[in-house]
Amino acid sequence: MLDRLFAPVTALPGIGPQLGKLIERVAGPLVVDLLWHLPSAIVDRRAAPPIAALAHDQVVTLRVRVEEHHPGIGRRPYRVLVGDDTGNLTLVYFKVKGDYLMRLLPPAAERIVSGRVEFYGGFPQIAHPDHVLTPEAAEGLPAIEPVYPLTAGLAPRLAQRAVAAALERAPEVPEWLDPHLGERREWPGWRAALAAVHLPQSEAELDPMSLPRQRLAYDEILASQLAVALVRARRQRRPGRVTVGSGQRTAPAEAAFGFAPTGAQRLAISEIAGDMAAPHRMMRLLQGDVGSGKTVVALMAMLIAVESGAQAALMAPTEILARQHHQTLQRLAAPARVEIGLLTGREKGRGRQSLLASLASGLTPLVVGTHALLQADVAFRDLALVVIDEQHRFGVEQRLALTAKGRDADTLFMTATPIPRTLMLTAYGDLDVSRLTEKPPGRQPIDTRTVPLERLDEVVAGVKRALDRGAKVYWICPMVEESETADLAAAAERHRALAGLARGRVGLVHGRMKAAEKDRAMADFAGDGVDLLVATTVIEVGVDVPGATIMVIEHAERFGLSQLHQLRGRIGRGEAASTCLLLYQSPLGEVAKRRLTILRETEDGFRIAEEDLKLRGPGEVLGTRQSGLPTLRVADLAAHAELIAIAHDDARLVLERDPGLTGERGRALRLLLHLFRRDEAIQYARAG
Ligand code: ADP
Ligand code: MG
Repeated sequence: MLDRLFAPVTALPGIGPQLGKLIERVAGPLVVDLLWHLPSAIVDRRAAPPIAALAHDQVVTLRVRVEEHHPGIGRRPYRVLVGDDTGNLTLVYFKVKGDYLMRLLPPAAERIVSGRVEFYGGFPQIAHPDHVLTPEAAEGLPAIEPVYPLTAGLAPRLAQRAVAAALERAPEVPEWLDPHLGERREWPGWRAALAAVHLPQSEAELDPMSLPRQRLAYDEILASQLAVALVRARRQRRPGRVTVGSGQRTAPAEAAFGFAPTGAQRLAISEIAGDMAAPHRMMRLLQGDVGSGKTVVALMAMLIAVESGAQAALMAPTEILARQHHQTLQRLAAPARVEIGLLTGREKGRGRQSLLASLASGLTPLVVGTHALLQADVAFRDLALVVIDEQHRFGVEQRLALTAKGRDADTLFMTATPIPRTLMLTAYGDLDVSRLTEKPPGRQPIDTRTVPLERLDEVVAGVKRALDRGAKVYWICPMVEESETADLAAAAERHRALAGLARGRVGLVHGRMKAAEKDRAMADFAGDGVDLLVATTVIEVGVDVPGATIMVIEHAERFGLSQLHQLRGRIGRGEAASTCLLLYQSPLGEVAKRRLTILRETEDGFRIAEEDLKLRGPGEVLGTRQSGLPTLRVADLAAHAELIAIAHDDARLVLERDPGLTGERGRALRLLLHLFRRDEAIQYARAG
């Protein structure tokens, strides 16, 4: 039924290979892509004043009589004088052949001419009119025309014609929407909605919230939600393992924490324990701000695996993080008397061999590491749980590769990037989610201030006073124009300039340092050797120095909102009050100003993420490529956020009632999936 839409655009009449390439560039290679190539503006041709009443820059459609031809000489354009009872108007053509214009505009003939009026030397003219037609032919001229996004070489008329040809191929389809939803929202049917969005009658109809656009956006969102729901349903049917704890390890560990888990931590732990105990594979994302206590939750899950007699592994994206996790987990797990191995690129030779042997024999139940865990010679006796920290920094294959070393292993993803719910559902709709929304008690709010760079001297003096009082300070240098070299130079220079402040107790850490050097610099800062740490954004993720109470961020206006939030999360981790100084280069742009204001107002990562989504758009927030974010053609995640939650529930409900998509609506939904090229998901619909 939809095959005609999945032909290449060159299958449409009048579209050859050359035009086809241009269309592919703006819309896509297939006829169906043209359906989603929506107009971004309209041209209203209804104005038809007498020539004497023309205004500059006005789009008009005029009935005129052709008076005289003035061929261009040299570089002068070809001009055709036309008129009505009230005056004259010149039609101007550059590089157009005279004989063609003679045929188009024969002297003394009546013509309908439409285009944008300009005044030149006090005289009205239209350069290259959009339409020149005989009065009879002009009957069919639409009064309002859609304007499509173009590319060099693609004329507006050609884009319009291509879309119109594609629309003709759109078939009547059975309705795939829940009838109540469609009725309640007053949405048109699919074909009517398509026709309407491509023939907008007013600016208002270009709005993403216009009913036809909403309907098409919902279709797209529903297809994507249904696809992830199918993937999830298939996963839940696949055999998993039942991993049940005994409390023998978790109880002594918890008793020794020295604090009580927060309510949010308890809930997350019980959700994870429930998944692990259920006979399907867990795929759960643990979301929580920096310092919200994810590590503790991960540890409890890992100890449950150990209690069941199996193993667990935690993979972190960097050496620093892996080491830090290893240290923290060792400390927290010591009362439970569980050994934790460490495997990074730096573990080599005999030490590595003996760790591999004891992982393979099961002697070492827990391991923390980097990508090094993925190496082929790393094997487990019985890996039941995989924890992946900062999961967005790993590719999909990497995430799966570690899980594949286990037998039906459960997976827990962790992220310190709070993701707005709408994005969550779109990008990770197949994951179950636990959120740590509370911070551990006893934390003081961070005093965040914005300071113009002109006052750098005062800031340096203030930092010096704080250092003299025994404070630990981060000084963050920004990326300079995406260039790592310049970035390092700036950090190194700042390091030299500040070296005197703390009597040589100033450290430097940046991305080009070897892992061991970075670790040493961080360890010195965490320990006693260094009080002021100059850093590029390598400290962004996860690093924990609870004694640090001051952070200066240079050129804060160059950082994204979430990034600033992550950076700031390095301080305010202990009992003492903390201060964050955002140094900015004035004048601040609107968006940068907004970012810094939000940071001053709140430390709530989820609110910051929502604001970030508004300011930057979804692709940026998740980091487009690796994000798993589907490319949406019609839907706009910001404008249609509300529809995402509806589609999410709709999709899950449909699959509960009709897991094979075989009912009447189910079959229509298969068409919808096909339309949005989600064919692979259709295979996951349960047979029968
Ligand atoms: P995250 O991994 O989410 O950044 P961590 O698990 O490292 O956070 O926790 C940050 C700090 O807070 C650690 O020092 C940890 O021991 C401490 N912590 C965790 N949970 C609690 C709690 N419920 N009460 C008090 N302190 C806690
Ligand atoms: Mg399980």
